[in-house]
Amino acid sequence: MNVKERGYLEDPYKCEFKARVLNVEDAGDGRCTVRLDRTYFYPTSGGQPNDTGKIGGSTVVDVIEDGGVVKHIVEGAVEAGEEVECSIDWERRFDHMQQHTGQHVLSRVFADELSMETVGFHLGRSVSTIDLDAPSLSGEEIERVEFEANKLIWRDIPIESRLMSREEFDRLCRDDGGALLERLRSKLPPEEKTVRLVEIRGCDISTCCGTHLKATGEIGLVKLIGTEKIRESVRVEFLCGQRALCDYMGKHLVLTELSRTFSTDWQNVAQSTKRLIEENREMRKAKEEASRELARSRALKTLGEPERLGDFELFTDILEEADASSLKESAFAIREQGARIVLMGAVNPKPFVVFACSAGAPFDMGRIMKKALEDFKGRGGGGMDYAQGGGISASDVRNVIERAIEILKESV
Ligand SMILES: [Zn+2]
Repeated sequence: MNVKERGYLEDPYKCEFKARVLNVEDAGDGRCTVRLDRTYFYPTSGGQPNDTGKIGGSTVVDVIEDGGVVKHIVEGAVEAGEEVECSIDWERRFDHMQQHTGQHVLSRVFADELSMETVGFHLGRSVSTIDLDAPSLSGEEIERVEFEANKLIWRDIPIESRLMSREEFDRLCRDDGGALLERLRSKLPPEEKTVRLVEIRGCDISTCCGTHLKATGEIGLVKLIGTEKIRESVRVEFLCGQRALCDYMGKHLVLTELSRTFSTDWQNVAQSTKRLIEENREMRKAKEEASRELARSRALKTLGEPERLGDFELFTDILEEADASSLKESAFAIREQGARIVLMGAVNPKPFVVFACSAGAPFDMGRIMKKALEDFKGRGGGGMDYAQGGGISASDVRNVIERAIEILKESV
């Protein structure tokens, strides 16, 4: 890594700077890859996304690290050799600094309070995560970490970074008898030539090349919003600073609206919602029962003249409107009244047919249903005394029933 070209390591608050364009390569689609002699743009690395902004009048859409070099992906034209005014989107940079610094604080607290080490970090577009080497995390542990992390924020502890060669770092470790290595939260890869120590003074020290705030107070607030088990570790979702505030604002708005709707304090909203769902479930059950009852009595009231089929009375009816369950109830209500066969259909909400006969009657309704549906590409089936079918067109409801009558007559 060429540390001299990376201005953000020294001053992450600098958002406007001049630089010379060393090299421009065409990247297709009206884009080019630009290298500057010195840049404050942060390239995507270490779990933190890139900065965006302007180089000259052109828009920086991405910044990458390629072979230890920072490359800016730019939309528009940039001339090699010229000196250009550059600007970084500060809102995005500051947001990343809040989330990233918040991660340092959280990782420290998880280690101190629960002896859980951070094994992964991702700064997402809306939510950031850290992965902990722990099998699980309780609600009480989450609360404890949240409190302790925010206490560190309120103390507004200064944060400093020091850039040094590997030799210098190794000497430092030797001279202090291993005290630094003992305090270091993250382990250093052996091949690393340059070391950057980031210290939350007297609290946490780690090696990191990201952009950090100058004191913990600027994180503002940290809120843990969820956990997820990922193989051997636990993933913790969190929000810092403005993201945490916006989350609070959004949730407050929803809760205020719900409190008003339920005419209760926000603390009682969850209880009121549960009660409402329970009441709704009971009412739905009562309504289903009532509509079944209605279907039965309506079916019996509007019963037409039956045809005779041996010892049995054969009733047929086609309803314009009836759902599957009320059609079934109607057929059951009719067949209970004697030695009967009932063939019923409905057109809406979807074409459907049901066949039923009195228990013990010598007919196989399931077989008749299958056979009657054959010519009309429908699907259905059932047992000896009841069968149902669908998948037919509205105009075939009558045809299926007529076909079933033919089959019944053949079998008597
Ligand atoms: Zn960092």
